[in-house]
Amino acid sequence: MESCFICGEEGILIEGRCRKCHIKEVFHFTIPGRIKVPYCKSCNSYYTNRWKILDDKLSFITEILEINISSNHEIVLVNDFIKKKKNTQVRVDFTEEGNIFKIKLGIRPFSDDPSFDMEAETEILLSGEQCQRCSRFYGGYYEAILQVRDEEKKIETDKATSIIDIIDDLSDRLISKDRMAFIARTEEKKEGIDIYMGSLSAARKIANELIKRFGGTIGESHKLMGLDRDSGKKIYRTTVTVRLKDLTQKYAYYRGHLYLLDVAGDNFKLTSLEDDEILSIKGKEFEKEIKKETIRIIEKDLLEVVELIVTEVTPERYQMMKLSGDYEPFYIPREDVHLKNTLIAGDNVKGAIIDNRIIIIGHESIISNI
Ligand SMILES: [Zn+2]
Ligand SMILES: [Zn+2]
Repeated sequence: MESCFICGEEGILIEGRCRKCHIKEVFHFTIPGRIKVPYCKSCNSYYTNRWKILDDKLSFITEILEINISSNHEIVLVNDFIKKKKNTQVRVDFTEEGNIFKIKLGIRPFSDDPSFDMEAETEILLSGEQCQRCSRFYGGYYEAILQVRDEEKKIETDKATSIIDIIDDLSDRLISKDRMAFIARTEEKKEGIDIYMGSLSAARKIANELIKRFGGTIGESHKLMGLDRDSGKKIYRTTVTVRLKDLTQKYAYYRGHLYLLDVAGDNFKLTSLEDDEILSIKGKEFEKEIKKETIRIIEKDLLEVVELIVTEVTPERYQMMKLSGDYEPFYIPREDVHLKNTLIAGDNVKGAIIDNRIIIIGHESIISNI
């Protein structure tokens, strides 16, 4: 019997080598026994080439393994070995212990021959560090102040709350692309709202969205704060001021339906208070309709709204009762109610009274999605 020319072992030889020596020769695979990944607990983010949210553990582990495995074969990470795959497959199993992922790798160098399978182990350590964003956030850092003002008068409290809600929402959405789009602090002042933001570009984007919604103007001013210690560059802090045109919500009564009126560029945007449907009417058309009196504008304070309860439901109609005044029950055909949901007995709804008619509405005011 012939023996391996490297180790001398006898048996079946491949190109003069035993199986062990053969695989050592043709397949190289290394992975560090421990991989440290910077991890920010405050925002659940990890760092590779940039900070990313640690969302799905398996895809996180896959990413980290792909960066750290070196091999002369093309490697495919799999949950389970697949017969048809031509590449070298590595099966990943993991368990979690605190901030450590213990990883077992099953390695199949040749997909058509499991007899060469081998195993390896590693662990991924999430090493606690605060990312720059969070350290700035918790340090009270801000790059810009977004000032929201009304053109004429001070902003009423409930309106201020709605505007802050809109800004919160926009900042949440921007954060997925711009991690500095956080709100460091919000101040409600006599003259308006000041929002301290981590990112100037986010402050500008939000200012533009507010203008789209309410109309108005934007201005910017810069204040020299000093010099950057490292680069020697001047550091400015920017204040973006939005002067909103008309913050009083108005309603439009049009073709028997009630809408919240809004301006969007040259168009008027009508958002149904019944089913949220949105109509867009060109400026000129809108004025024509006003002249013809097919659209009636109702000031917010002048809309009469009553609380109602549904007392009975039949296939054709609802019986409802007013929860104030005369507690008078009345019937309304189901086809005249345009709410998204079907009502059931016991539901509370609101009704707007226009021309002695009750229009069932979902809500009184909508800070509609921008
Ligand atoms: Zn050998
Ligand atoms: Zn962080």
